[in-house]
Amino acid sequence: MTQRITILGSTGSIGQSTLDVMARHPERYEVFALTAATQVELMLKQCASFRPRFAVMASEAHGRQLAERVQAEGLAVEVLWGAQAIEAVSAHPEVDAVMAAIVGAAGLAPCLAAARAGKRLMLANKEALVVGAEVFLQAVREGGAVLLPIDSEHSAIFQSLPDDASTWDRRVRKIILTASGGPFRTRDPQTLREVTPEQACAHPNWSMGRKISVDSATMMNKALEVIEARYLFGLAPRRIEVVIHPQSIVHSMVQYHDTSVVAQLGVPDMRAPIAYGLAWPERIDSGAAHLDFTSLPAMTFEPPDPARFPGLQLAWDALEGPAGTAAVLNAANEVAVQAFLDRRIRFDQIHHVNLETLAAVLPQQPATLDELLLLDARAREVAERAAQRLQA
Ligand code: NAD
Ligand code: MG
Repeated sequence: MTQRITILGSTGSIGQSTLDVMARHPERYEVFALTAATQVELMLKQCASFRPRFAVMASEAHGRQLAERVQAEGLAVEVLWGAQAIEAVSAHPEVDAVMAAIVGAAGLAPCLAAARAGKRLMLANKEALVVGAEVFLQAVREGGAVLLPIDSEHSAIFQSLPDDASTWDRRVRKIILTASGGPFRTRDPQTLREVTPEQACAHPNWSMGRKISVDSATMMNKALEVIEARYLFGLAPRRIEVVIHPQSIVHSMVQYHDTSVVAQLGVPDMRAPIAYGLAWPERIDSGAAHLDFTSLPAMTFEPPDPARFPGLQLAWDALEGPAGTAAVLNAANEVAVQAFLDRRIRFDQIHHVNLETLAAVLPQQPATLDELLLLDARAREVAERAAQRLQA
């Protein structure tokens, strides 16, 4: 039996890599629905190659454009648009698995829809979990969904942990997330105020979307991953550590009480964790190259410098703060990164926007999706004003 898959964010970096892996296994997987925000031409190409039942664009304008193009090409794909349609193809009864690869908090609602419908949910969209962990995990439990991490670090940890999750807390001493350190790991911190979006997006090891690339340069990506790990694996925040490993070969590690460390290694290629999520517990060809140990560069490890990466500590601060603090941090950071990409604020000012927003927005225990979205919107307003003040 082939599995029917919905890909949320199919035109993005993770979405395209997911289609690449699926195309290697047509006997196992078929595309049920593809969703995207703005890239109509790429979506049309994906429709022609993968023949999904549904193609969904986020806005009506892009949806109508796609519908016209699909009709002109004579493709038998039903085109829909809007947030509700994205949720509908996530929760559709004929869907077996959902790849959540939208960037940002915008992915939370469709993730929840898939979780409530009990899907196998492959989670790349870490912001969704950061924003709404309690609500999200409750939906997973109540819907009977299977949550599989796609983030390479979390896939590595999942692969390094015992199958029985009820033993993790007892057996594990620490989770150690590796980080590449991004493009500015050795740059003089005094010059970080001058870096351009192009420089920040030029990651040394991974090719990714622009938002996560900037997050890798500030290490806010690792901060979000610390929060993600805390909720995925249920360990206290002080048992999660970050170490810089510039070669990105060791994708993360679990240290046990007896001092043993179990790690997962591989070339830096997101198709490997995507293939693991698609096939788990099976192992299938991902298209990534195999590691050749005899030609590897020397592997090195170093502590992250808090002066260079001041945002990293915000992960533990947010986890100790009142419920909803991580949602405020995420919203602030999404706004700040966009302002940097639009050349409205400097790279080093991203952290200032985050700090100002955290200080100004006090969350009131958000307990539902609506309350989370309200908090997210409030934090965005405050962050936007902070960015505008810096710009002025
Ligand atoms: P990307 O920017 O390349 O792609 C984002 C996708 O989401 C696109 O298809 C876009 O159309 C869609 N999208 C954006 N805003 C939307 C909205 N408001 N409504 C509906 N769809 C929307 O991003 P990416 O690099 O593929 O990252 C996707 C997610 O995966 C992020 O959460 C990121 O942190 C995570 N992730 C990515 C990588 C990577 O290697 N790229 C690795 C680990 C985790
Ligand atoms: Mg990662």
